Amino acid sequence: MHEEITHPCVQHKLALLRDKETGHQEFRDLAKEITMFVCYEALKGINVREVFVQTPIAEAKCHKIAEELVVVPILRAGIGMLEGILELVPTARVGFVGMYREATTKRPVAYYERLPSESNNALYILVDPMIATGGTTAAAIDAIKSNGATRIVVVCIVTCPEGLRNVEAAHPDVRILTASIDDRLDDRKYIVPGLGDAGDRLFGTS
Ligand code: URA
Repeated sequence: MHEEITHPCVQHKLALLRDKETGHQEFRDLAKEITMFVCYEALKGINVREVFVQTPIAEAKCHKIAEELVVVPILRAGIGMLEGILELVPTARVGFVGMYREATTKRPVAYYERLPSESNNALYILVDPMIATGGTTAAAIDAIKSNGATRIVVVCIVTCPEGLRNVEAAHPDVRILTASIDDRLDDRKYIVPGLGDAGDRLFGTS
């Protein structure tokens, strides 16, 4: 299950994000804004509870979010999406999963994990700007499922058919929302056309 957010406002920001002339400060701002839009769509169907609020005029029937939410950025590039999600849902808990792609095998290697305990009924929002081969994402989903998560949505910025296929084959119960499904992977397993190394562009380390 996946969905590409084709709204012109998202696609406009994505065009700016992809541009190799965009510096790290603007890249960070754009990544945050795109994340908010994609996450907004991801949370469309979550549970709400009815509340009554007294306006200056009358009592209004309103709705508030009735979910416990846990945001899990995959280190390090996922950090660049955290602020945008917390602006949308400030009460969410935050867990971290540290993964890197081993240079020769391109396989994910886990090096850090810190997840909230007793949040088994929560909706987990796993965030990583790029789903390339899908190996890291699938391994991070394994990690949060091992911690008890049963409801997981993945929010990313750019992915490709191979990455979607691999994550969906391993975890058919997990929804993936993205601002773009790009063409393919290159020999180095970078997304084409993509936006380069998201971590380096976010943090100015290229
Ligand atoms: N990670 C990135 O940052 N960029 C890619 O294109 C693929 C994986």
